[in-house]
Amino acid sequence: MDIHEYQAKDILARFGVPVPRGGLAYSPEQAGYRARELGGEAWVVKAQIHSGGRGEAGGVKLCRSEDQVRDYAATLFGHRLITKQTGARGKDVYRVWVEGACDIAQELYLGFVLDRKSERIMIVASAQGGMEIEDLAQDQPEALVRMIIDPAVGLVDYQARELAFRLGLEGGQIAQMVTVLQACHRAYSELDAMMVEINPLVITGSGDLVALDAKMSFDTNALYRRPDVAALRDPSQEDPREAMAADHGLAYVGLDGDIGCIINGAGLAMATMDMIKLSGGEPANFLDIGGGASPERVCQAFRTVLSDANVSVILVNIFAGINRCDWIANGVVQAYKEVGLTLPVVVRLAGTNVAEGQAILRGSGLPITATDTLAEAAEAAVAARPHPVAA
Ligand code: ADP
Ligand code: MG
Repeated sequence: MDIHEYQAKDILARFGVPVPRGGLAYSPEQAGYRARELGGEAWVVKAQIHSGGRGEAGGVKLCRSEDQVRDYAATLFGHRLITKQTGARGKDVYRVWVEGACDIAQELYLGFVLDRKSERIMIVASAQGGMEIEDLAQDQPEALVRMIIDPAVGLVDYQARELAFRLGLEGGQIAQMVTVLQACHRAYSELDAMMVEINPLVITGSGDLVALDAKMSFDTNALYRRPDVAALRDPSQEDPREAMAADHGLAYVGLDGDIGCIINGAGLAMATMDMIKLSGGEPANFLDIGGGASPERVCQAFRTVLSDANVSVILVNIFAGINRCDWIANGVVQAYKEVGLTLPVVVRLAGTNVAEGQAILRGSGLPITATDTLAEAAEAAVAARPHPVAA
């Protein structure tokens, strides 16, 4: 689960990370008021959405008067911000953070992530912050410093100091960096985080370290024991299609195409997306209905896929091992009636009770295209699109 920058800053500050003073606003007027409250001569207005890359997308702006703060905030509220990380659908801005403008001498990168290979928390840092870490890792991998934390002893001070040295920090900055690192590590482990990222962590004109941006992501499996963290959830930032699927226990990931997919098994779902692309189409979603899917579950999968207005054709691809093709076929027929389906449907069934399943589809009299192979199914789905979207 992701949270907003201002929430992550609040958490990290409580653990001892220095952050700029700021205030949250739900309206342009409130944003202007926040600037006055903070005082000073320059402020940075920051759209609060669950995404990085806001600066490049016009979601972060330096303002030099209260009026400017209010006017700029007015351009953000209720608007959709599309960043490199949000995908084409973007994210809506309902909250804005106003903070004092900081005098930046240098931008550093600092991240705490779970390294699956070593099964430990890993620190990733760089003296060249500001830009996206993926770009940095690709263009200048030597500029990244990595350090693994041993869970038996935690982050030890000498390790933190070594990291500070490797980033080229000097004098009082070393002790400040140790404080920041220890604070992030405690926040990470005590709150069951999956990721803590400060990008940029800046050195100010007067030589002090300050976190100008903050991102935290949490392990959803641990939220039951972190009610304070769970309370920070913001459904306005979630894909409504994915939220609906999660409520019904379906593994669904929304994508940008128009071919709705209902598939059993994650591997088969991945293969199906590849086949759709190979046939010149774009999947609207990834959906794994799992084994033993009852007709009711198939129906719910249809509802979920159809909640996406971009969907213009549905492809059902089932390899029935635990499942049974006749259940799936009954589910498809039931969905036609209950959901009032009008879109073309392509169904490929294989495995247990395949003959029974196909007989049910044929006997239904519904306009369903049944195919034998995955390749045929993908081609039929691409051909059945009434208004193909550009790939
Ligand atoms: P994002 O990562 O989503 O683009 P950031 O919070 O990192 O958003 O802001 C983008 C850039 O804006 C930062 O790299 C920094 O240069 C600048 N910035 C952000 N906050 C401030 C601030 N309080 N004062 C001065 N510059 C800032
Ligand atoms: Mg940033």
